[in-house]
Amino acid sequence: MSAPPVPPGEASGSSAGSPAWSDDPATTLIHHPYRPPAGFEAPQPAVHKASTVLFADVASLRARDWRHRSGYTYGLHGTPGTFTLESRLASLEGGLHTVLVPSGLAAITLVQFALLQQGDEVLLPANVYGPSRELARHELARAGITHRLYDPLDAAGFAAMLGPKTRLVWLEAPGSVTMEFPDLIGLVAAARAHGVLTALDNTWGAGIAFDPFALGLDISMQALTKFPSGGGDVLMGSVTTRDDALHERIKLCHMRMGWGVSGNDVELVLRSLATIGLRYRANDDAGRRLADFWTRRPEVSRVLHPALPDAPGHAHWAAVTQRAAGLFSVLFDPRHPPSAVDAFVDALKVFGIGYSWAGPVSLAVPYDLSAMRHPNPYAGTLVRFAVGMERVEDLIADCEQALAAMSASRG
Ligand SMILES: *Cc1c(COP(=O)(O)O)cnc(C)c1O
Repeated sequence: MSAPPVPPGEASGSSAGSPAWSDDPATTLIHHPYRPPAGFEAPQPAVHKASTVLFADVASLRARDWRHRSGYTYGLHGTPGTFTLESRLASLEGGLHTVLVPSGLAAITLVQFALLQQGDEVLLPANVYGPSRELARHELARAGITHRLYDPLDAAGFAAMLGPKTRLVWLEAPGSVTMEFPDLIGLVAAARAHGVLTALDNTWGAGIAFDPFALGLDISMQALTKFPSGGGDVLMGSVTTRDDALHERIKLCHMRMGWGVSGNDVELVLRSLATIGLRYRANDDAGRRLADFWTRRPEVSRVLHPALPDAPGHAHWAAVTQRAAGLFSVLFDPRHPPSAVDAFVDALKVFGIGYSWAGPVSLAVPYDLSAMRHPNPYAGTLVRFAVGMERVEDLIADCEQALAAMSASRG
């Protein structure tokens, strides 16, 4: 059915654009014989968009296997764009295989559903990403999969929790609101000794801060929505592995679940990925400068940034990296009630109020930890800051004026 490629130039005559079997534009514009010349080399990969992929004949349709990136069968099974992005992400994280999904949360879901079945248990850190915990409480529970929460700072206590039903250990480094950095080395060693698979939410490290596979982790997932996108304009997730058999389990589940990503979104992430190292370092520097400002403010009792010596898990952070994302939280002293902290956030002008991070706009969100953590080890209202790309002096000045507005509002 598809026309044979026409050498460049041969299709330039007025009638050369029509196949022999029709001259009606309704048909000829779809079955147009012109093919651009091969050999166009640009540094940036092209945008590939397809549901349907055409085969030369029935034999090749029957012969094509989608599992090993050796050919194209259907849009959901991969395009040159998704294969390219998957390969670059695998290199970034020190893995061998990557699978793309439409969001970071979908990447979490994919790992859980690919590896767990009825009767199994997954262990989640007590500071786990909130929607991940909701997934466990509802969808995993409905599938007969149970979960328990462990203290990510206590590897010995964690080791004692590993039981005959434990099939997967979830790790997050650090917890994305309270920022405790887990004892990654101790937790992974205990899980491995017990023969249990380990999966890391590596959104914060982004493949820049440390190499998850060198630490012995089996699976690394990322919300590409954050650093790899860097634009605050894409939702996407990835699941990366080194082990062929493990990848195959994840890939088969991925295909059966039907998760595809848009070719335009793939191009956006590919465009940004080239600068991820520069953006990460700049974000780290700005985040530490703003965190340092907060350590000198009397309104807050604690600054939760893994690079600060008194942050929970600081030694575990220092054991695996010297880098950090520009993401941290402050605990307002309990003498400032939640309403005053809300007034502080409302008074911010440069910071937006909103979820997510690693985009151009700095963001702030107040969290009520008493509703999130049982038991809650922290006193006072927490505000999480996600540093964007604005000048850091402007961010500091914004916090200063909002603190002044907060105290003025209380008379
Ligand atoms: C944002 C985020 C996710 C989820 O990503 P989405 O693309 O928003 O679904 C998962 N884990 C962490 C740590 C995140 O920050």
